[in-house]
Amino acid sequence: MSIAPEKIVGPELIDIYRKVDEGTRLSFEDGMRLYQSKNLSAVGYMANIVRERRHGAKTYFVANQHINYTNICNKFCKFCSFYAKKGGPAPYEMSIEEVRERLQWHRDADLTEIHMVGGINPRLPYQYYMDLVAVVKEVLPGVHVKAFTAVEITEIARQGGVSAERALADLMEAGLDSLPGGGIEILSDRVHEELFGRKIDGDEWKEVARAAAKLGLKQYATMLYGHIETLEERVSHLMQLRELQDETGHFLTMTPLCFHPEKTELEHIQKPTAEMDLRGIAVTRLMLDNFEHIKSFWIMNSAPVTQMALWYGADDADGFVHEYEITYKDGDFGNKKQVLTRSNMVRLIEEVDRIPVERDSLYNEIKRDFVAKKPLSGIPVTAS
Ligand code: SF4
Repeated sequence: MSIAPEKIVGPELIDIYRKVDEGTRLSFEDGMRLYQSKNLSAVGYMANIVRERRHGAKTYFVANQHINYTNICNKFCKFCSFYAKKGGPAPYEMSIEEVRERLQWHRDADLTEIHMVGGINPRLPYQYYMDLVAVVKEVLPGVHVKAFTAVEITEIARQGGVSAERALADLMEAGLDSLPGGGIEILSDRVHEELFGRKIDGDEWKEVARAAAKLGLKQYATMLYGHIETLEERVSHLMQLRELQDETGHFLTMTPLCFHPEKTELEHIQKPTAEMDLRGIAVTRLMLDNFEHIKSFWIMNSAPVTQMALWYGADDADGFVHEYEITYKDGDFGNKKQVLTRSNMVRLIEEVDRIPVERDSLYNEIKRDFVAKKPLSGIPVTAS
């Protein structure tokens, strides 16, 4: 016997449920009510309707490796624990040869995506970025190169004395396939000024996104939440992304990213809870009716929360992720390796009764013989 939706969502949210059921776009006020509702299960239930309407039980993941080529940065964002500073991580800058070596580390994992981002390091010349992309294509021909946030693109263009569009075109010529999210954190002038005033602002970020779309480059979108932003600013961020996607249609996926205060200037702020993580995924799924995919990034919100998120609107669990240096496991600067194997990723998804589907970066399905199903007792995320 199925339970009537009215009983699940209650009178408080029944009007939003009707809109979701009909496929009607939600308003700013709806977004606020979803964030404020005490009935998290109802918000998740509605997000799951949208998720299953689009993807059924399928859950996508990608075989990827992250490379953070430098942590030297002149932007000093208050929320960032990654950049080199006194009492923090030691500075580094990878040579092209070092990157070449790193690309050899996981050759047996059948990787399909290399994800590269780094700090804004004014010592690196224009040609370095071209070589960085080219070496990936040389070592791993056919792999998808997802690299450089809009902030990096602006810096690369500045180094080359060219427009952002020219820099993007040159990078594409070298082998760049898509742009990752990040770079703006949240589209709010107030938060920009307060936390990351030296970086490009929202209007400049959108200009890079438009330039990418014009060149046919796909892009991913993110939202960093759980720092000083208000609920209004979160909903406004989602609405602005939705408007931009209406205009360009070039975003592939949206990933809400939970803030990690450890070793940042905002260490006094409490880390987002699982409740905030799940609600963030669900509200994002409900508000972004023109985004095909919503990702739960397990490296930020943990493997267990990602398992739950697959019932709260997320249809993507990201990938294996090797040597992720943006956040540090248990706040330990020496502890960078956070990895799931392919079989662990499959088990993570199957354990919550979803269907694992390996994809490439553009969501083409990749057929593989996954390992046999096994009951799981603890996902062995390695960190060494
Ligand atoms: S978030 Fe990026 S731009 Fe800001 S300080 Fe960290 S590395 Fe630099």
